[in-house]
Parts: sequence; structure tokens; C-alpha cells
Amino acid sequence: MARPPILDRLDEGQSLLLDGGTGSELQRRGVDVLVGANDGLEAWSATANIEFADVVQQVHQDYLRVGADIITSNNFWTAPTRLERCGLGGEWRRYARAAAENALTARDNLNPAAYVAGGIAAATLQGPPESSPVSDTRQMGREACYREWSEHARLLVEAGVDLIQAEYVGFIEDCVTAVDACSEAGATVFLGVRHIRPDGTMQYGERLEDLVEALEERAVGAILLMCSNPEAISAGLPWLRRAFSGPVGAYPNLGYNPTGPILNLPMLSNQKASTGPDILQNAEYYPSRVAEFALNWKRMGTQIIGGCCASGPEHISAMRPVVKGNGAT
Ligand SMILES: [Zn+2]
Repeated sequence: MARPPILDRLDEGQSLLLDGGTGSELQRRGVDVLVGANDGLEAWSATANIEFADVVQQVHQDYLRVGADIITSNNFWTAPTRLERCGLGGEWRRYARAAAENALTARDNLNPAAYVAGGIAAATLQGPPESSPVSDTRQMGREACYREWSEHARLLVEAGVDLIQAEYVGFIEDCVTAVDACSEAGATVFLGVRHIRPDGTMQYGERLEDLVEALEERAVGAILLMCSNPEAISAGLPWLRRAFSGPVGAYPNLGYNPTGPILNLPMLSNQKASTGPDILQNAEYYPSRVAEFALNWKRMGTQIIGGCCASGPEHISAMRPVVKGNGAT
């Protein structure tokens, strides 16, 4: 096998190019990611893993073609609590396994040296910040929340992913639950922290240095700031770098309003309310500008760089020479 352990490469100081968004890219390519959605995202792109497996594989392939070292399986919401919202909770293992297989097949066919991250997202049961949200850990109870993460992670590890990317986690308490549960599955765990605020704090005002303290002695391989405005990631990274001695990463949300057709609400400060067609609002984050952010993040010591919502192969392609050096593969 052509892949050394990913943490060895990061320990050596290498920089790795992560893929871009998958759910938004599927939506851009005509896949219905709003199955069963009335007032929220329900299971989002989870059902595409079976209903549109060919398109999911094409997205993975396109990221590999532009040089991604890591692709993320489309397991964002294949967790039972989210698939249950489409009446498919009992089928979650089938969708979760299909997501892993789509990514592994694409990788094996196109670039066996690339890594597949099993990308599990937090259940995200809380409402918007103004509703005084509580963590998934509290809403589900720690035992049930832990079990959902650990069963999902174990399934993906058994399917053959190289690492687990526990992502879209908003509360420190949920980060701890996710890291503990996923590391029990025996894989390297990357943690992706969502919706960093313009002042560099976490979504609900918790501090990144408190997150790092809570994770001390825990098996977290890397911490990444994700699904946040590029500017907010720039604000959060220095705090994270000061507090955390391990590798850090960044993958921004470039402006995506997936619920535009059903809700006329913005979700992040770089999004506008949308009544439909403009689900991708990334015009101001054109590829070469995103590459400038990537260069800045790399200079801050960030080793894993890619994109989240509304980023596509064109952004990853533009970031490639910055992240990996000119012409490097
Ligand atoms: Zn995102």
C-alpha cells in the first residue's frame, strides 16, 4: 500500500491538500440534497450515496484529479438520528457503508496514494443560536450520543477508511464526546470545528483554547476549523495554533445556502437570504482569492487545507500550488 500513516507525514512537516465541498457540489450537479426537507436540512446529501452513487463518485474523482491528498467520504449525515428524519433511520448502515465505498472506489481507481477520511458530522440537534441551544451530548444524553459516533466510526473503519474526520462539531462538550467515541474505533481522528465567529471564538462563544484544554490527553490527531467564513478562520487559527501543539487545518465555507428553496434565511455572515436559485453565493471567493487565504493560513503553520460548502474542484485546484508547492504532487 502506497500510503504511510497520515500523522507521520504531518509530523515530518508536510502540507496536505484536502478536498472541497461534497454536498454543495452534488447540489450544483443537480442532485436533490433536500430529501424530506421542510424546515431544515434533514439528512441533506446522505441519500445520494445510494440514489446518485455515480455522481458522488464523480465528485470524489474530480477532487483527486486536481490533486487532493485527502478525500472525505459523504457520510456527513448518514447518522441514524439524521436519516430518521427521512424515515430511513433503520437503514443508516446501508447509506453509511455506501458513502465509504463511493470514496474508496474513487480513490482506488484514481490515486491509491490518497487518503480517505470517513467524514462523520455532529447530529446538530440544536436550533439557531438565538434559541439558547444545548449540545447534542446533553440533548441525546452522553451515552446515546457517544454510541452514535462510535458505531458510525467503527462501521467506516471496518469499511477501510484511513482516518475519521469528526466534523461540523459546535460545542466543546460534543467535541470531547466525538473524539472519545471515534478514537475507540481505532483510527486516527481529525476534529473539524464548525462556524467559527469573526472574533475567532467557536459558534456559541466558547474559546478555542478551552477546547484544546478539554481535549488534553485525548487522541485527537489534528484540529481543523471548517464551514466558517474564510475571514473567521483567519481569526481563529492563531488562537488554535497557540494552544494546540499538533497539526491544524482549515476548510472554509465560501457561501452556501442549501435551504434557499425552502427557507429564506442566511446561515453564515457571508451568506444572503435566498429564495431559490442562488444556493451558491461564492462569487466574492473566487479561486485565486481563496488561494490567497490558503497561503496566509499556510504561513500561520496550517498543514491541512481544503474547502467546505460552496467550494469546488476549481478552488482546490487553485490552492494546490500554494499548499503543496509549485508542481508538487
Ligand atoms: Zn460546510
